[in-house]
Amino acid sequence: MREDAASGLTSMGPKRHGPAMSAEHPANRFMQMALEEAQAAAARGEVPVGAVIVSAEGEVLARAGNRTLEDRDPTAHAEMLVIRQACAVLGSERLIDCDLYVTLEPCPMCAGAISYARIRRLYFGADDPKSGGVEHGARVFSRPTCHHAPEVYGGIDAATSTTLLQGFFAARRG
Ligand SMILES: [Zn+2]
Repeated sequence: MREDAASGLTSMGPKRHGPAMSAEHPANRFMQMALEEAQAAAARGEVPVGAVIVSAEGEVLARAGNRTLEDRDPTAHAEMLVIRQACAVLGSERLIDCDLYVTLEPCPMCAGAISYARIRRLYFGADDPKSGGVEHGARVFSRPTCHHAPEVYGGIDAATSTTLLQGFFAARRG
């Protein structure tokens, strides 16, 4: 078991789920920022998912919401956008010691990119049994072909993320 000295969280490895966290925990602040990006995405008619990348020093390097419609780009998921932005900021193809916050469990594509970027910790909000690739489906980080798995903390402010997504899809159906 590793001890995360900075946050007081413990991780059993790559698949720890649902840590109990105080309201003052920095993870909640960054997830709040990711939720703001998700809300902004919804306002643009995009699926409301938002992401933030934070450096080891706690500096926000990138923040974005889904932009697949606007960019006409099926890879323009929030996670892909923040990884590209943060790499540009750092001038590196690797995001060693950086943490990624995203409001929904990443899909297999984004989980792959998170691994290639060498992200240190992944914090996500709601589970995505339908399209997720971390706790569901492909379970990318658990495969022998995965050469870097981040520490994973799921279920952070999951209810807010779920409410946003449900509201968005209900409005589209209505
Ligand atoms: Zn994705």
